[in-house]
Order: sequence, then C-alpha cells, then structure tokens
Amino acid sequence: MCRHLGYLGPACAVSEPVMRGPRSLFRQAWAPTDMRGGGTINADGFGVAWWASAEWADAAARRYRSAAPIWTDPAVPEVLSQIQATGILAAVRSATVGMPVERSACAPFTHGKWAFSHNGVVPEWRKTVGAIAADLGNIDLLDLEAATDSAALWLLLQRALTTDDAKAAVVDVVERVVSLAPDARLNLVLGDGEQLWATTYYHSLSVLVDDASVCVASEPYDDNPAWQAIPDRSVIVARPGYLTVEQI
Ligand code: GLN
Repeated sequence: MCRHLGYLGPACAVSEPVMRGPRSLFRQAWAPTDMRGGGTINADGFGVAWWASAEWADAAARRYRSAAPIWTDPAVPEVLSQIQATGILAAVRSATVGMPVERSACAPFTHGKWAFSHNGVVPEWRKTVGAIAADLGNIDLLDLEAATDSAALWLLLQRALTTDDAKAAVVDVVERVVSLAPDARLNLVLGDGEQLWATTYYHSLSVLVDDASVCVASEPYDDNPAWQAIPDRSVIVARPGYLTVEQI
C-alpha cells in the first residue's frame, strides 16, 4: 500500500524530506518494510505538495505529480531540489487493483491551502462514497479527479472541511466510511502548511517531533529512537513542538 510523509519545519528543499534517511520515502517506493494489506512496491506514480508562504502572496499548496515511479523522474533531483518550502506532503503510490494508473490518481490531492493523501482502500468505494455523498448533500461525484477511492475520499473531506474544524472533518469521514465499509483501510494525512492531521486505520504511521519541526510518515526514515509509532485507530494533530494522539 502506498506510503506518505508530511513535514513542517525550517525551510528546506522540497525533495529533501523525501530523500532523507536510509529508509527515505524515495527508497520506500521500491523497498518498503511494512506493506500491510498487499502490494510490494510503490511504483504507480508519486506526488509532492508544498507550502512556501514566505515566497508567495497566498498560502496555497503548490504541487508536482507524476504517474512514473519516483526514482525515474528527473524532476525530483533537478527541479524539486531547487524549491524551498516550510512544509511538504508527499506520497508514493501502489495503485489498488482495478484503479487507474494515471497522474490524476496520485496523491497529494490539493485545493487552496489544503493537501491530502490516502494510504489504504475503500472496498466498493462507489457504493460507499455514493451513499455518504447522498447523505451529506452538495457533493457531485462527477467532480472526481480520478476514478479512485482516494479521490472520492478527498471530495468527502473537502465537503466536511466546510466546518473549519479539520480534525473533526477527518474523523467524520473515517467514521462515515467505516460504518458502511468496516474493512476500509484509512490512513489519511491532511495538511494546510501550518498543521498536519492524520489517521491510522489499519496501516502504520510514525511521528518524529521536536520544537522546530515535525515529520509524519508511514515508516520511520531512520533509526532515531524519538520516532513514535501511532496506535491503530488514532487521529493525530501535529505541528512543530506539538503532537496530540486520540483514539477514533
Ligand atoms: N486505493 C488508493 C489508490 O489506488 C491508495 C492505494 C494504496 O494505499 N496503496 O490510489
């Protein structure tokens, strides 16, 4: 299953947190260590969103995605290494069987300041998301960017984010999905450049936090003993110097 990583902290090259450590996200694309629920490598594309508010007038997330395996794309060493950011959200993809392998299906999904990634699967996602969309109202499934469960979750989450409470929105989406599809696997990461919100629902997640920075990752990228493994069925809120973990 896909792997993802969120970083907030001192400005660095966009590619740096992606390449960081002996088990970097970059390396996890072909050598992941904790692939629960099937899949062996994450070669069906990748994406990186970043926030660089000092350079730009607005706080919107910028993004690069590609359907190519991350290790084959020269944009990583040649372009993303040239851009500075104070926050990134990155993902490498192992497409769920039956879902399209295309750029538009690669996380992160973005809208304005928001960036979102999903690691997992929603069984029978059309039925599940269709029922939730009908219940919530104001959602047009024709707006889906790609015919995947992750893109559909992003539509639901954007609708839920209209409440302005991002943690509640993330939990609401998880609870609605698992009430209809109890086998759903829902490791979500949402960021706005200032904070990260993430859930564990079946897949692994670890956090490394200190006063200056925070990193949220499917797998620790190094052996630093300060990595905290997040228990299953949790929602976390993280920013530099701050981490809360609550059960869902
Ligand atoms: N189901 C999602 C997709 O196909 C995520 C896949 C994953 O986590 N491996 O894009």
